[in-house]
Amino acid sequence: MNVVAFFDTKPYDKKWFDVLCDKYKIELRYIEPRLSADTAQLAQGCSAVCAFVSDLIDAETVDVLTKKGVRAVALRSAGFSNVDMEAAKGKLKIYRVPEYSPSSVAEHAAALLLTLCRKTHKAYARTKEHNFSLTGLVGVNLKGKTAGIIGTGKIGRSFCDICRGFGMKLVAYDTSPTAGGVEYTSLDELLSRSDIISLHCPLTGETYHMLDKYALAAMKPGAYIINTSRGALIDSDALLEEIISGHLGGAALDVYEEETDLFFEDASDRLMRDETLTGLLAQPNVLVTSHQGFLTDEALHAIADTTLYNLRSFFDGQPTHNEAETAVKV
Ligand code: NAD
Repeated sequence: MNVVAFFDTKPYDKKWFDVLCDKYKIELRYIEPRLSADTAQLAQGCSAVCAFVSDLIDAETVDVLTKKGVRAVALRSAGFSNVDMEAAKGKLKIYRVPEYSPSSVAEHAAALLLTLCRKTHKAYARTKEHNFSLTGLVGVNLKGKTAGIIGTGKIGRSFCDICRGFGMKLVAYDTSPTAGGVEYTSLDELLSRSDIISLHCPLTGETYHMLDKYALAAMKPGAYIINTSRGALIDSDALLEEIISGHLGGAALDVYEEETDLFFEDASDRLMRDETLTGLLAQPNVLVTSHQGFLTDEALHAIADTTLYNLRSFFDGQPTHNEAETAVKV
C-alpha cells in the first residue's frame, strides 16, 4: 500500500475517500491541520500528499515537503492558485481535479437565486419561531426575466439550462463564446440588460474586480448578483455600497474575496474583524454561503475518484491529463 498524507481533513472528505481508497490500493493518513510550511513535516514517510484550495503550498512549504521526501501533491480541487508553481517545478508533481460536477455548482447558484427572489431564508427563520406573517416576504418571478451569464464554460452552461427551465431570457458574455442557444453581448450590454447576473468565469489578472464600482453602477436598478465563482471577481466594498444605496436588489455570494481565513472553518467564537463582510451579512438582501457549491455527494464522489486516480498514476509512473502545469492557472 502506498501511504498518502491527507491534509485539512473534513468529515465530508473522509466519506468518499474511505469508500474508494482500497480500489486504488492507497492508504490515507488523515491529518486535521491545513498544509503549510509549519505543518508540512507531518508528511514524514509519505512520498505524496493530498491537499485542498485552502492549503498554502508556497516556496517554503515546497522546501519542507521535498526535504521530507514528498514528490507529489494531489489537489482535491480544480483551482491551484494556492500553489507556487515556479517553486514546485522539477521538485513536486502537482495534480488537480479539472472537472467533477458542474451541475453541483450551477444548482447551488440556482438555490441562492431562488432564495433571494422568494425570501425563503427569512420565511424559514420566521416559521421556526411560529411567526406565520407574510409581511415583508413579497418576492419576484423569474419567468420572463433576463439572466446575464458571465462565463459560459461547464458551470455557466449548466446554469443556462436551469434558467431556460424557469422561462428566463438569456444573455451571456465570454471571451471565448462557444455555447449554443445563448445571445452573446458585450459586458456593458449584459450589465444594462440583466435582471440577474451570475458569475461563472475564472479569476485571472484580467477578471480581478471585473464587477467594480463602475460595472455595479451600470447594472439595472433592482438587479441581483449571484457569485459562485471566485470572490475577487467583485469589488466587495463597492458591492456593499450599491446594496446599501438600494441600487441593487440583492446579492448571493458563495465566495468572498477575503474568504481564506474564514471559509470552511467555524469562526463563531472569534471576533469578526472584516467590516465589509460584516456589513454584507447585516443586510437582509445579502446571502452568504461558505464556498459550498461543490458540496454534494455526487461532486465529492467524483473528486475522491479522480484524486485517487491521480495518486495511483503518480505511484505507477503513468502520465495523466490532470497535472497542473499543463493547465491554465485557475
Ligand atoms: P470553465 O473553464 O469550464 O469555464 C470558464 C469560462 O469562463 C470559459 O468559457 C472561459 O472562456 C470564460 N472566461 C475566461 N475568461 C473570461 C473573461 N475574462 N470574461 C468572460 N469569460 C471568461 O470553468 P467552470 O468549470 O465552468 O468553472 C467556472 C468557475 O467556477 C471556476 O473558475 C471556479 O472559480 C468556480 N468554481 C466554484 C466552485 C464552488 O464550489 N463555488 C466549484 C468549482 C468551480
